[in-house]
Amino acid sequence: MFRLYDTRTRSVEEIIPARRGELRMYTCGPTVYRFQHVGNLRSYLLSDLIRRNAERHGLSVIVCQNITDVGHLADDDEIDPEGEDKILAEARAEGKSALEIARFYEDAFRADCRLLNIAPPDFAPRASESIGLMTDLIATLIDSGHAYAADTGSVYFDARSFADYGAISGNRLDSLRPGYRFEGDVDEHKRFHADWALWKGAPTGRELTWETPWGTGFPGWHTECSAMSLQYLGNVIDIHTGGIDLRFPHHEDERAQSNSVAGRDVVRHWVHGEHVLLEGRKMAKSTGNVVLLADLADRGLDPLAARVAFLEHRYRQQLNLTWQTLEAADGTLRRWRERVATWANEPSKPMRADYAARIFGALDDDLDTPAAMRALRELAKDDQVPAGSKFETFVAVDQVLALDLPRDIGRVPAPQALPDGAEDLLEARVAARAEKDFAASDRLRTQLADLGVAVADTPEGQTWSLTR
Ligand code: AMP
Ligand code: ZN
Repeated sequence: MFRLYDTRTRSVEEIIPARRGELRMYTCGPTVYRFQHVGNLRSYLLSDLIRRNAERHGLSVIVCQNITDVGHLADDDEIDPEGEDKILAEARAEGKSALEIARFYEDAFRADCRLLNIAPPDFAPRASESIGLMTDLIATLIDSGHAYAADTGSVYFDARSFADYGAISGNRLDSLRPGYRFEGDVDEHKRFHADWALWKGAPTGRELTWETPWGTGFPGWHTECSAMSLQYLGNVIDIHTGGIDLRFPHHEDERAQSNSVAGRDVVRHWVHGEHVLLEGRKMAKSTGNVVLLADLADRGLDPLAARVAFLEHRYRQQLNLTWQTLEAADGTLRRWRERVATWANEPSKPMRADYAARIFGALDDDLDTPAAMRALRELAKDDQVPAGSKFETFVAVDQVLALDLPRDIGRVPAPQALPDGAEDLLEARVAARAEKDFAASDRLRTQLADLGVAVADTPEGQTWSLTR
């Protein structure tokens, strides 16, 4: 099958789905208060690559990805229940309602995913529409002694009730001192400083609040991913993905909640994508150095150039993006599409086993996409491989890479028929050049010219055109 790096076990693991023939994957989705930058999109590309590669192995893949439209506070540590909700803050800034903001940026996110060929999830629950799921989860956690309600209307998870806390990130409870993770005051309603709010009591009049047995309020961000993943994917989830920054506290908290409800380790493999830097600095809205897909279009680049740039690096390495990288990626995309269209004019031939093994083996080896890209470049240039065979390989691997490589088929004119005997001479010349017999290659060039065929040597191999 295939292998992925599991953040929890800190090793590359063979992925064997719990259910035969079916892979279930949960992907932490966006908080919809702004356009997603290409850094965010790289995190979603990770789960798309896992999905496409798993489907290549014949697995049916079920993906759930949440939409956070309430409850994600600007203060990531989330100790302040009065803290600013990212969506409410943007609503105020833009003079709109919270849900207008949320739906607008959700639509923009889906449009970006379409442009990047990121397949839509099978389930895309919104936090604001999953409140019942969350309050049920919280009630279960209170009943089983994992959570407690304060008289403020907030409900906290009792971190010390979950012995395995910290397994993903290594941030064990005994090393989490106040002031390390928490800046500012520790919420006095917590029994223990590392407890976190599952539900946040809110002052009346605040937008997006709900009535509960504990009081009026809104859900904590970590609550939704447990409630939704258990609801849509069940108690056994093969893979959970997200950006590396979600490892802690988001995924630790989610794991504690889900496992406490299910009475078992719910997620079998945690897979995280590394960050994108732009010209050396972390891409983040707060620092203003972001690239949106729209910025690529403004520069005349295909949005899929971003996908190429990501594929040139392994998902768990930081990627320092520059405009030069994106322009080079755009060039690769155009060149490969043109090549595929040209090869499509030749008779189809089976894939060459050696290249196929290298390319698909690289994808199975913890998504080593850079190795797959290198092998494709070599294949494109390899004079020994017939065009029809290159065509089949590029089209097959594009099922996973999803770069729309066959897009220009039909746009490159079919070659005119070669004069009798020219085919053999062309083949003989390729062989002569491979043996560095340049005298023979020049002689063959002259013979071809006499037949009306001009040959040229390009980085991608020998090409020809008719002169009459
Ligand atoms: P957010 O919308 O802020 O919740 O972030 C959405 C996703 O993007 C999360 O999975 C983050 O881990 C991820 N993310 C945020 N910044 C970056 C970055 N610079 N590079 C890659 N992923 C990022
Ligand atoms: Zn999540």
